[in-house]
Amino acid sequence: MGEVTATDRALVVPQTAPDATLVTVSDARPPAIDRAAALRNAHHFFETTSGWAPPDEDTLAEWVADGVSPCPDECTATPDGWCDHGIASWALILADPDDIGR
Ligand SMILES: [Zn+2]
Repeated sequence: MGEVTATDRALVVPQTAPDATLVTVSDARPPAIDRAAALRNAHHFFETTSGWAPPDEDTLAEWVADGVSPCPDECTATPDGWCDHGIASWALILADPDDIGR
């Protein structure tokens, strides 16, 4: 009779990966990279991005006292770590500014 029923329009259900392998942003953890790679990423960020500025020493010290550090891309990471984008934290970068991961 021309009635539209649910079966007239097949829903296209995208094939999704099993939950075990599904990586969502909320599950993102800092990438499994090493310190040198994080520093390389940070310096690459400096070369390709404008508008960043290092925090002043006192500000950074306050962050570190709380067990965190800002990152150049405005993320937050641990002082000796890097953010979800693999960019080293300012505390890590400024601990040895000459260490650019090479
Ligand atoms: Zn980031």
